[in-house]
Amino acid sequence: MSLSEQEISRIVEQVLRSMQNESGSVSSTGATPVPTPKTSLGDGVFIDVDSAVNAASIAQKQFVELGFEKRREIIQGIRETALEHAQRLAELAVADTKMGRVTDKKAKNVLVATKTPGVEDLPKEMYVGDHGITLAVYSPVGVVGAITPTTNPTATIINNGIIILAAGNAVTFNPHPNAAICSNEAMKVLNRTIVKLGGPENLMTSVAEPSLRSSAELMKHKKINLIVATGGGGVVRAAMESGKRAMVAGPGNPPVIVDETADIEKAAQAVVRGAAFDNNMPCICEKECFVVRSVADKLIDAMQRYGAYLLSSTETDRLKNTVLNPDGSIKKEYVGKNANVILNDIGVRVGEDKILAICETETNHPFVQTELMMPILAVVKVNDYDQAVEFAFQAEHGLRHTSMIHSKNIGRITHFAKKMSCNLFVANSHCGSVLGYEAEGPTAFSIAGPTGEGELYPRHFLRKRRMVLRDVLEVS
Ligand code: NAD
Repeated sequence: MSLSEQEISRIVEQVLRSMQNESGSVSSTGATPVPTPKTSLGDGVFIDVDSAVNAASIAQKQFVELGFEKRREIIQGIRETALEHAQRLAELAVADTKMGRVTDKKAKNVLVATKTPGVEDLPKEMYVGDHGITLAVYSPVGVVGAITPTTNPTATIINNGIIILAAGNAVTFNPHPNAAICSNEAMKVLNRTIVKLGGPENLMTSVAEPSLRSSAELMKHKKINLIVATGGGGVVRAAMESGKRAMVAGPGNPPVIVDETADIEKAAQAVVRGAAFDNNMPCICEKECFVVRSVADKLIDAMQRYGAYLLSSTETDRLKNTVLNPDGSIKKEYVGKNANVILNDIGVRVGEDKILAICETETNHPFVQTELMMPILAVVKVNDYDQAVEFAFQAEHGLRHTSMIHSKNIGRITHFAKKMSCNLFVANSHCGSVLGYEAEGPTAFSIAGPTGEGELYPRHFLRKRRMVLRDVLEVS
């Protein structure tokens, strides 16, 4: 068997990585292994969870003392720094994780820097009457433990950082182990800005070598008052079973419906754009498409003009056997790869202008039922709108995350939105719209479906206190 140069360098890199992961030198006492840091320490990066949380706890107390005006100034500074570093962090994210597209990662960094709600989102509540004044005072919770994903590795740090700090908290992150370098670098540049603006050191902290173990340790740490976990099924369960208050942003498998009343040209453009965005890694991306048979060929033709490559049925089978394990689980090495790179592995040579692979399948195909996080979109032809809804509902697996429809029939749009009951829903646009990307409204990068908060904003990171004032300010 002869290996290509590319394969050899990939294997060498994997071996070096696993050696690095295991190499934590055992201390002279033979006790706890000391991990080899992936990131240099400092600017909020610590060697272990305990030091990271303790430092954040000290910083949080100093932070609240600075008052709201300084907090506003710091959040503004974070936004500006994130914008300044948007391109560099996007490049670093792709280099570190080997997934996704620099332009789309940059767009996400810019989106969170500009549209994540800040201090203005904090609730204000007051009741005045014959019995005096009752106020709701919202206080910070303290230190928030934030578990972040590999799919949005720098944008989630910026977004979670803003919403958590805007509410007066500090944060300790546990980035995904495969995104530690870029996630920690994002946090470091933001921390430097905070200090430059007169804020405390270590308002955001993290560990140099995050792992599943450090994630579990963070969730259980006694000084962590609230957890926000963004990721797949494993972290959702772990956070909900942690015994702490947790807001959990879990997986999705968003369907898109195209019916016979839709503007097919616009629908094709939107579906390709959404499904190809950052190689389909965001949880909100169109992950399977149900199209009414009478307009299906027109849609598929148009999708090809917008950058989709249509697979034959033999190529579809080959692709299935390549990107999925025999048990149906996804092969991680294909997550977030460019379409032309994935297709190359099944012997299909296409240019970089092909940003999405599409294939016609039945609704029970694994490409429909599985959250692939690859630029592969199964297109299922259905008899009518009713069958599209039935299949879409089933493919979403009751996650109630995100769903999309292209239709001019307002009754159907309303019916589909009701039936799916998703946290995020969009009619006649690409998935990015639900995050305020090229659409109205703020953005969120943690959509807490399983715990019910939906899009997470600063208002979710607070502790409500009721204050009743009698016999004061009676001026009427
Ligand atoms: P992942 O679940 O592999 O990892 C996410 C984070 O959780 C990482 O920091 C990881 O270290 C930690 N983690 C994983 N399993 C854990 C466990 N058992 N105990 C403790 N910590 C654990 O997910 P990923 O590949 O980084 O991200 C992709 C997934 O995240 C997709 O399923 C996607 O839909 C979902 N996601 C959801 C949202 C949302 O807002 N709902 C946003 C982004 C991504």
